[in-house]
Amino acid sequence: MYKFDFLEKELNELREKGTYTTIRVLESAQGPWVEIAGKRMLNLCANNYLGLITNEEVKNASIKAVEQFGVGAGAVRTIAGTLVLHEELERKLAAFKHAEAVILLQSGILANIATIPLVVGEGDLIFSDELNHASIIDGCRLSRATIVRYRHLDMEDLQAKLEDYKEYNVRKLIVTDGVFSMDGDIAPLPKIVELGEKYNAMTMVDDAHGEGVLGDHGRGIVDYFHLEGKVDIDVGTLSKAFGVIGGYVAGSRVLIDYMKQRARPFLFSTPLSPADTAALIRVVEILSRDDTLVKKLWENANYIKEQFKKYGFNTGHSQTPITPVIIGDEKTTMDFSKMLFEEGVFAQGIVYPTVPKGTARIRVMVSTIHTKEDIDFGVQKFVDIGRILGVIK
Ligand code: PMP
Repeated sequence: MYKFDFLEKELNELREKGTYTTIRVLESAQGPWVEIAGKRMLNLCANNYLGLITNEEVKNASIKAVEQFGVGAGAVRTIAGTLVLHEELERKLAAFKHAEAVILLQSGILANIATIPLVVGEGDLIFSDELNHASIIDGCRLSRATIVRYRHLDMEDLQAKLEDYKEYNVRKLIVTDGVFSMDGDIAPLPKIVELGEKYNAMTMVDDAHGEGVLGDHGRGIVDYFHLEGKVDIDVGTLSKAFGVIGGYVAGSRVLIDYMKQRARPFLFSTPLSPADTAALIRVVEILSRDDTLVKKLWENANYIKEQFKKYGFNTGHSQTPITPVIIGDEKTTMDFSKMLFEEGVFAQGIVYPTVPKGTARIRVMVSTIHTKEDIDFGVQKFVDIGRILGVIK
């Protein structure tokens, strides 16, 4: 065991700093209310934007697929693991995203890690927003290209950096989150596309938090900005608004064909199970035919933001349903989150290094399936505790 003393030491440091993560265990489905440690709690934590995790139609599609196809795919896609379900989902997602083609991967993180090293390599250049998600950063590192970070959302800085490297005759990629998960702000994609065209750089967006949220029927950030066909690589996750698991890349036929020959998680790891895949096909069908769930999500998001503002909370500059309640001080934030938990509200405190120092916050995730009464209950608890802790008057 002595071999792991170094790990023990690091764990103890985390405990001393108060940043050791206690993992909450849900004893019920991921609904608007959840059961944790035998207690019913209002759930303001999940990425289940549209409530599709417990949607009856989606659940039934899964059950039917298990009866027909069993529980696993049985091999990697290129050997014997491609089911008709995988191809149907790829086709339907491509149609939904108005993209030429789509490749499915096992998660959003793998979609980023699979893609970036295929389009840039050693000696090439990546221009990356400084607040990009960890999976983008890992994909960039795996590629061995040189990473040039630009200031968050700062298009002047991006342009200056592209200008600095203008003479380099190498492949260039600009990569950004679509919606940034801690602040809910949106990347200025039209400007990024313009700069990509001007400086001959490929463009890539990770739409994990825009999927099912932004654009017509929740088609995502590319649709939201009317940029179909102009963003070279559109990465998505199927685990948030889509409610299941998986990731994908939407793009040109040549990109997707190439990925099916060379993307390592596609070649060397078994794909989504029949249950997951069939559930996702039904999700895409539901979103394609009906935008009620997306509209209700925005109604709830606007309502909760209005309520927080009315009571004097600082909700930053979110443009999406992700609602940060910014408190600043780390200890007050963690105390706030604990007190909310005691009062039956499950909402996560987030501190440095996940967010910059001095901007500790509680991240509130409201969904389509919260009722107005649920939201009022949650906000009232924030107000009561906010007054006790002196966060609001
Ligand atoms: N990209 C972003 C921006 C994310 O927020 C996340 C999820 N935290 C991912 C990728 C990873 O998605 P998945 O959970 O499907 O691996």
